[in-house]
Amino acid sequence: MGAAALAAWRFLIPNPLTAETAPPTVDPFAFGVASGDPTMDGFVLWTRLAGRRGDQHVGYEIAPDDSFRRIVRRGRAIAPAARANAVHVEVSGLWPGRPYFYRFHHAGTVSRTGRTLTAPARSDRLRLALTSCQHWEQGWFTTYRDMVDQAPDLVLQVGDYIYEKSFGAGPDVRCFGAPEPVTLADYRARHALYRTDPDLQAAHAALPFVVTWDDHEVENDYAGLQGVETIDPRAFAARRAAAYQAYFEHMPLRRASIARLYRRLRWGDLATLHVLDCRRYRTPQPCGRGGHVIGHCAALEAPGATMTGAEQERWLVDGLRSERAQWSLLVQQTLFARLHLPQGPEARYSDIWDGYPASRQRVIDALQVPSVRNALILGGDVHSFWFNDIHRDAERNAGPVVASEVVASCLASRNGPPALFDSAMRLNPHVRFLDNTRAGYVLIDIDRTAATIDCRAIDSLTDREAATHSLIRRTIADRLPGFLS
Ligand code: FE
Ligand code: CA
Repeated sequence: MGAAALAAWRFLIPNPLTAETAPPTVDPFAFGVASGDPTMDGFVLWTRLAGRRGDQHVGYEIAPDDSFRRIVRRGRAIAPAARANAVHVEVSGLWPGRPYFYRFHHAGTVSRTGRTLTAPARSDRLRLALTSCQHWEQGWFTTYRDMVDQAPDLVLQVGDYIYEKSFGAGPDVRCFGAPEPVTLADYRARHALYRTDPDLQAAHAALPFVVTWDDHEVENDYAGLQGVETIDPRAFAARRAAAYQAYFEHMPLRRASIARLYRRLRWGDLATLHVLDCRRYRTPQPCGRGGHVIGHCAALEAPGATMTGAEQERWLVDGLRSERAQWSLLVQQTLFARLHLPQGPEARYSDIWDGYPASRQRVIDALQVPSVRNALILGGDVHSFWFNDIHRDAERNAGPVVASEVVASCLASRNGPPALFDSAMRLNPHVRFLDNTRAGYVLIDIDRTAATIDCRAIDSLTDREAATHSLIRRTIADRLPGFLS
């Protein structure tokens, strides 16, 4: 066991802030504040009262200035015990394209001030931060400090917001201090633990988040209602329901997202964010439960195989057909491009879009409509940075380049398996850039002429003061998909 692992044992303490254990003197706003999903006239505000029992109320205030001299909205919201005393305020009726400040009150205590915004009616620029994969035990969340400094309009968190368990050797910096979550109380405690991280809290307070989940919010590599470790279907369904509920309780999401997480957000006529859910409705991975390197097998061509489910696919097709924005962003979870592996020409990894080639091709087909001017696919999950050209025929990498793919590395996890990725650039000419040695996030600047992609890499996940810097910057020009340079 190394020094880092030994040092980590002092973090093996139970989370003191859940209702079961906390004294009533605990700061009710110990989990911080958050905002998300801005529209032209509003957003969602979030907090969760720490250490309280029974139904509670909070007051909230919204102002255009952080001194709250002129309060434009004031109200009371319920923090129900049945939702872990979480508060979700859906605000509407504000001015478009403005920053707003907010804070909560409870029992004489005032929360920290959060900053959020409304989406613009018209805008010529949008700055996004794309992030995924934050493992509590495998790294500090220090790179969020750089993200706050870069001041993106929105943070896109595309999954593995929490991890359900330890992986590999370690822990590297701190411990979960609890076994793998199964029940609602377990998942609540895991989310609550995450929200005690000061860098994550500061990011939520400073920046509105747009979130969608991947697998680790429930269980590694699950697909629809099929678990990988939880084999019994009824036990998995109960586990998934508990995990989903805890997720909704802790994220700045609208009530409508509980029934359906996939949704659209608009940034004037500059960009539309088509936020996808590629876990809940997918069919099981072909040729074996969970993600594996597979060869060719019949299940790969099963006619019903889908990454999105038929209903979400229709919703996406319809949304692209009526697209009015200059940039169409597909905000989703996993690697979209065909990834040839060193195991042979037929080899593919089954948990990513390679496991669902027909579903992937239907998405590409849906992007080939006159209303879609620029297709940019954003993802995470593979713990490495990627810039990929997406060809018309993605399976064969044939035909013209029709879309660009940007994948953010893990924010705080060990990198992807070298056995799968180290030869990727040699075997996949459509992979324009790959770094599987660093963690961080991606900053995306979109305007009328181009999208500029900046991979922000952190020097170390075990040094709490590590610096984050630019690893590579590339531009995608308007109406010229791909990274050909
Ligand atoms: Fe991950
Ligand atoms: Ca994942």
